[in-house]
Amino acid sequence: MTAPLTPDERRAELADGLAALRARIGAACAAAGRDAAELTLIAVTKTFPASDVRLLAGLGVTEVGENRDQEARPKAAECADLPLTWHFVGRLQTNKARAVAGYADVIHSVDRSRLVRALSDAAARDGRTLRCLVQVSLDPAEAAEGRGGAAPDAAPGLADEIAAADALELGGVMAVAPLGADPRPAFARLAEVAADIRRNHPDARIVSAGMSGDLEQAIACGATHLRVGTALLGGRRAIVR
Ligand SMILES: *Cc1c(COP(=O)(O)O)cnc(C)c1O
Repeated sequence: MTAPLTPDERRAELADGLAALRARIGAACAAAGRDAAELTLIAVTKTFPASDVRLLAGLGVTEVGENRDQEARPKAAECADLPLTWHFVGRLQTNKARAVAGYADVIHSVDRSRLVRALSDAAARDGRTLRCLVQVSLDPAEAAEGRGGAAPDAAPGLADEIAAADALELGGVMAVAPLGADPRPAFARLAEVAADIRRNHPDARIVSAGMSGDLEQAIACGATHLRVGTALLGGRRAIVR
């Protein structure tokens, strides 16, 4: 067992992680002929405490991501004084839509019509507008079970539903690379789906793709938003549920 870090030590560790990550993103952008200013970094803070979110905000991070309502809700409440945009990136049950709509600004995981309706109703009741991304499954059909995401063919229709919903705004698309396969062709497929959706919805420019292990490939394929946990905050401990 190592002793827990003091807040100053943790701040220094996060500052180092952020500098290394920005250098990695810069190199990937240079290799892809892209401007790093086109990329938005979302710090995925799941399993890490609100104190880390506060330290990251002090280091200039403005976007944070979470994947479970039970954890995200109290964390967002503890950090309500900070100028942060909250991204919900995990699978979302319809019965959690109302809770998540109360603190999240962007929902990355919209993958079915029922969820579009639930989020729209919840946001309208709160007098809020939620930005929603269509989560696209890049898994082969037999592996897609339980991983979330709409089939690529279904994504444009879902995008139309989000765009037509009262309290929702269509932001674009999101995907997680397939397990155990080269992420590049999958992210290229996502770029095609995104371009297809932009034909009817030119403002839906977000392509949320790229995590700690595959952000270079995502940048090469046109990602606009990176969701990074481990490479910034360190390894996650197992969560006790
Ligand atoms: C946890 C998570 C991430 C971040 O993953 P890392 O590999 O730690 O960077 C990104 N997206 C989603 C949907 C996640 O659940």
